Amino acid sequence: MARKTGAKTHTHKYHYINLGFGSAWSCALGDCTHYMPPYGNGRIDKRMVGRITRCFGCDNEIHLTEDLLKMDQPTCSACQIAMQQEIRDLNSGIITPKKEETKPIDWSFLQ
Ligand SMILES: [Zn+2]
Ligand SMILES: [Zn+2]
Repeated sequence: MARKTGAKTHTHKYHYINLGFGSAWSCALGDCTHYMPPYGNGRIDKRMVGRITRCFGCDNEIHLTEDLLKMDQPTCSACQIAMQQEIRDLNSGIITPKKEETKPIDWSFLQ
């Protein structure tokens, strides 16, 4: 596996997580260790506004806004609408959780 040290080889997928020394916006992508040092800027970090990130729903590139920074895992507006719709449907019973079809096991092959 090639080890990429450059942090700018991809569009970072920012999420807000606790890194041990505090919470910070960091990249969620596997081999990327990029994060924004908090410096006491907190969650709604002005330096983050306008940066490009990847939507946690559809992976499209989106620009971060102060509203998106309120989410731990920013998603684009389309995904937010879809998620809200899904929650509404779940609550109203339109979507019923799928029941696993369980077939009785046929042990006859053992005999
Ligand atoms: Zn990254
Ligand atoms: Zn999306």
